[in-house]
Amino acid sequence: MPRLVMKFGGTSVANPDRIRRAAKRVGVEVAKGYEVIVIVSAMSGKTNELVGWVEDVSPLYDAREYDAIVSSGENVTAGLMALTLQQMDVPARSWQGWQVPLMTTDAHGSARIEEIPTANLDAKFAEGMKVAVVAGFQGISHEGRITTLGRGGSDTTAVAFAAAFDAERCDIYTDVDGVYTTDPRIEDKARKLDRIAYEEMLELASLGAKVLQTRSVELAMRFGVKLRVLSSFEEMDDNAGTLVCAEEDIVESNVVAGVAFVRDEAKMTLISVADRPGIAAAIFGPLSEAGVNVDMIVQNISEEGRTDMTFSCPVNEVPRAEHAMAEAKASGSINYHDLVADTDVAKVSVVGIGMRSHAGVAAKMFAALQAEGVNIKVITTSEIKISVLIDRKYMELAVQALHDAFDLDKAA
Ligand code: ASP
Ligand code: MG
Repeated sequence: MPRLVMKFGGTSVANPDRIRRAAKRVGVEVAKGYEVIVIVSAMSGKTNELVGWVEDVSPLYDAREYDAIVSSGENVTAGLMALTLQQMDVPARSWQGWQVPLMTTDAHGSARIEEIPTANLDAKFAEGMKVAVVAGFQGISHEGRITTLGRGGSDTTAVAFAAAFDAERCDIYTDVDGVYTTDPRIEDKARKLDRIAYEEMLELASLGAKVLQTRSVELAMRFGVKLRVLSSFEEMDDNAGTLVCAEEDIVESNVVAGVAFVRDEAKMTLISVADRPGIAAAIFGPLSEAGVNVDMIVQNISEEGRTDMTFSCPVNEVPRAEHAMAEAKASGSINYHDLVADTDVAKVSVVGIGMRSHAGVAAKMFAALQAEGVNIKVITTSEIKISVLIDRKYMELAVQALHDAFDLDKAA
């Protein structure tokens, strides 16, 4: 029988009524002849509450106990979903991660999936079970301890099951009806995309469009899992939502697929560092050890053997970055005249696989920003993305201007 994975996020299982609504959708797919693996998140807000309790009891918590506690929200929704399906006469049972067993590394709090043996679920499907409801976000390490996959990890659970069980598709039910060209709260002309390429989704996911856990998109790309993002609150329809798929499966697309942004960035410049071999390593080594997530890096031209080095990072990591640089300076491994932090910047990016074959995207982007009087502070580019740092107060304006300039309100 063909298989389908259906994942329901926190808002889709927030209470028994919502669980019944989700279960009805599962019932429709079962009636079509699918064997379904349902992956559930915890009820919305639950995981945050559990994390809060952990931090209240033990600020420097044992990560193994953290996982034992924060994974529990999914146990509740998995059981409730299985019960609800049984009420509808759909043969279903729940599985916690360890029962599958979903094997992971022992990196508690952000474990990686290593293996999903299919034998246990397959045996039950063979006996007539129609739906396996699996608690998302959790697994078990080789030491036999409960692990979790990082916040938003149920998406990754879902994709991993779709790959392991060779599912026809992995449907991710959430509270938005798909992936948009940009955040509709900022640009009301934002348009839902029917299809988006894995690569584009990866850039959008890591650039701040929080629809899917980045890791889940990486996994989908690697195993060619067709991912569909759709709302559990809208009418069911075979073409609903956004399909995240391979480039080859997209016939027509705009050069730019979307505009992403990160509001709370900081730009830091080390003024006058020695321009010598090893200087970048001496700067970025300590920053990475301090846990600073450096994004853009720009080294200026040098004059008389000295240069300025600029990088960006999340604004809340500025104190850590300053501390790491001061320590490196004190130890003599680097020397700089001054460290200047600009904490009022935002990053805006345009993303699209079409950039590979179209020239002029950068020029168009810069012209659109110029027309609005927005000054660009840093620019970086990759094959399918151009990002700029600008003053935070212009972020919305820039997103709207770029959405307009690239005609994103119109389909290709
Ligand atoms: N419940 C977990 C979280 O809130 C996992 C998930 O929902 O994907 O992060
Ligand atoms: Mg999520």
